[in-house]
Amino acid sequence: MPIKVYNSLTRKKEDFVPVEEGKVRMYVCGPTVYALSHIGHARSAVSFDVIFKYLKYRGYEVKYARNYTDVDDKIINRANEEGVSSEELAERYIKAFDEDMDALGVEIPNFRPKATGTIKKIIEVTETLINKGAAYELNGDVYYSVRLKKDYGKLSGKNIDELESGARVDVDERKKDPLDFALWKSSKPGEPAWDSPWGKGRPGWHIECSAMCMERLGDTIDIHGGGKDLIFPHHENEIAQSEAATGKTPYVKYWLHNGFVNIEKEKMSKSIGNILNIRDVLKDYTADALRLFLLSSHYRSPIDYTRDSLKDAESAMERYYKTVQRMKEEYPSAFEVESCIHCIEDRVSEMTSAMDDDFNTAEVIGAVFKEVTKANKLMDEAKATGEKKGVWTEISYTLSLFKEAGKFLGLFARTPEEYFGERNSRAAMPAEEIEGLIKEREEARKRKDFKAADAIRNGLLEKGIVLEDSAKGTTWSVK
Ligand SMILES: [Zn+2]
Repeated sequence: MPIKVYNSLTRKKEDFVPVEEGKVRMYVCGPTVYALSHIGHARSAVSFDVIFKYLKYRGYEVKYARNYTDVDDKIINRANEEGVSSEELAERYIKAFDEDMDALGVEIPNFRPKATGTIKKIIEVTETLINKGAAYELNGDVYYSVRLKKDYGKLSGKNIDELESGARVDVDERKKDPLDFALWKSSKPGEPAWDSPWGKGRPGWHIECSAMCMERLGDTIDIHGGGKDLIFPHHENEIAQSEAATGKTPYVKYWLHNGFVNIEKEKMSKSIGNILNIRDVLKDYTADALRLFLLSSHYRSPIDYTRDSLKDAESAMERYYKTVQRMKEEYPSAFEVESCIHCIEDRVSEMTSAMDDDFNTAEVIGAVFKEVTKANKLMDEAKATGEKKGVWTEISYTLSLFKEAGKFLGLFARTPEEYFGERNSRAAMPAEEIEGLIKEREEARKRKDFKAADAIRNGLLEKGIVLEDSAKGTTWSVK
């Protein structure tokens, strides 16, 4: 059974049949690097990271490119405000983006081209478009003639005449048509500039993605991804100029778009001031919790970020790792055997059918947590009856299943020690101090001074540190 993907171009789910059998070429629009990345960027990166991982899991040879837009008005303005070069500013935020991706467990794509590293190809494509009569030069600027391609609007479903009547004619009088967009912009003094047949200038935004995509992946690719906000005009313009330049249709077989992230039911925007940076979220929650939150909804639907939803995701991760920890304590040898995939064939195929249906990660996550509940129940029963043998087998199967899901979700892959280590590193006081207080509390309890012991426990709880007593002693964790 082939994978089914929802194609924004045809507005329906289709069988995924790549241009070249067994091979997938995939391009995703990356960040404009003028500020720290927010959780909207995290959603796009994580969604397509899972798609990348899953296609490889299904045996495809995947070539994946995600770009950095490192020349742009916003970068130039910000650099001027700070009195640094746009190159320096862009490099700083490329580094920050890479760090955020690493923290989120996002795999490095095969290619990470920069617009500024693709100038030669951008000029080449622009020249081709001029030669074909699809673009024209005006005083050092080059514009693409939108009217020329009859199928303009096919991705966004927009009608060219309606767009025309809504367009502001006074924006740039030099353009032949208000809908035309810039492929090349002549540079003003102090702006980054490259030599071109039309004088010194820099590329427009849309052309860079077409050029980077063609240069790294070829004229026709299988998947092009990005946030829904990029459908118009960015991706619409990419289609127009790419297909006009190469003469090949389609430029992209499957267009995949991820949904928005709202913050407490509001749109994330600069004017509201509710932009949440990835690194700020990761100060309060683990990367696993953020990733789980992002993947618990279908990638195309909008999601609402709330403190409660992140807290829920953290509790779920905690439950997962506590279960694995318990499995390790009660059935240590189950961790020493190789995964047995054919033993859990049915359960794995349930997960892959969910993923085959337009990458339904929510369903897979639901299945994993059902296994978590089941494992705890089995371990409870085994404890009550003393019958551990059958449970051992089930536990080893459950572990294999967690491993399989982890391969394409990029979740459930750490050890409990790593997960709790990360959480506990956020404690309001150093670990040694907490351990010291736990000792003091033990001594107080030994001399039956329960008032003192409770005071220590409550004091820690106020700081978000929870103590848990068991037969083996007291452990602590961050709430
Ligand atoms: Zn793009």
